[in-house]
Amino acid sequence: MARRSKDPYDHLPQEDAAAEPVPCWLCGRPTGKTIVWHHPVPKSRGGRDVVPMHSICQQTVIANFTNSELQRHGTEVSGLLDNPNVRKFVDWVAKKDPDFTATVTKKQR
Ligand SMILES: [Zn+2]
Repeated sequence: MARRSKDPYDHLPQEDAAAEPVPCWLCGRPTGKTIVWHHPVPKSRGGRDVVPMHSICQQTVIANFTNSELQRHGTEVSGLLDNPNVRKFVDWVAKKDPDFTATVTKKQR
């Protein structure tokens, strides 16, 4: 198949086509067509490591934790999974398609 020259994803890091899909940092499902490279420690807090995530999982993390909390948990996802909201989300999203997305509403607090 001819490669389209106007590939909108050309600027993103290319995964080897034969490689296994990388698992999402939060829910552990394989990532879909869209991989979000998330900073477990926010960039504004000096975080440099990135982890692959579904965009819906990243939205969930952002909606449930403040930057300070994310900085405290760092790359240890188990701390985030102790949050009942996140736990519920991961159990719910487990059966969804890897490319499933939805709008995650941020709770007012
Ligand atoms: Zn995920």
